[in-house]
Amino acid sequence: MRFDGRVALVTGGSRGIGRAIVESLAAEGAKVAFVYASNASAAEELVKSIESSGGTVLGIQADVRKKADADRAVDQVVETFGKIDILVNNAGIVRDTLVATMPEEKWRDVIETNLNSVYNFCHAVMRPMMSARYGRIVNMSSVAARMSNQGQAAYAASKGGIESFTKCLAVEVAKRGITVNAVAPGFIVTDMTEAVRSAAEDKILKEIPTKRLGQTSDIANAVLFLADEKTSYITGDVITVDGGLTLGGL
Ligand code: NAP
Repeated sequence: MRFDGRVALVTGGSRGIGRAIVESLAAEGAKVAFVYASNASAAEELVKSIESSGGTVLGIQADVRKKADADRAVDQVVETFGKIDILVNNAGIVRDTLVATMPEEKWRDVIETNLNSVYNFCHAVMRPMMSARYGRIVNMSSVAARMSNQGQAAYAASKGGIESFTKCLAVEVAKRGITVNAVAPGFIVTDMTEAVRSAAEDKILKEIPTKRLGQTSDIANAVLFLADEKTSYITGDVITVDGGLTLGGL
């Protein structure tokens, strides 16, 4: 299989897009560890589901905002599976609020969960990936990074930061056989978009040329492409997966 012998770690892997990435990597032969925050029942259900299909999986409770948790999670993956080939920084939150009324804690929570986490985990995998002279890192951005949605200043800033970080790290590690890329999803059907979808699905669909919302498998496909050993000549790039939402056509 495509990912036989590979070891992957996916943050925010218990639900939504992360879960689809975990399931796809496991179905393609990878040993997959995933990090979740607090939803232990979703994590346990995912572990059972993958193990019952013959896959190898490890669920790790950790707070991606904390550097010590990232270091512990990466150590646990290396101790359990012997190495780490693929890191998918997927965990993220939205806390939409206008800047004028945004309390400092909300700003910090979004930046720490979405952006600082990417540093936390990338830094933690540097040593094992550099000594193996191999790695595939995929960071989850969003089309929000280049849109100007009201109430999304913190979220957009975190995702714009991820894209800039991705390009700089890509250059730093290119000679070590490590690629670093990002995926920017549009509107995907997950818990995160439930409220927006129930309030304005028809309006959103009008803006999407392909006339459908994205599925988690649409994002998993792009992540697996970037995580593939054969994808060795794409680095520092951002793949947009949005059904044409950001093309701006009439
Ligand atoms: P989701 O369904 O809300 O799932 C979020 C995942 O992140 C869960 O597994 C959650 O764990 C985990 N998580 C949140 N905070 C964490 C923390 N502090 N430490 C560890 N894990 C944490 O989200 P999603 O829609 O799949 O989104 C996944 C990624 O795609 C995010 O980065 C998001 O910004 C990005 N994205 C999504 C969309 C979309 O339309 N859905 C569009 C563009 C970009 P628990 O289960 O324990 O809560």
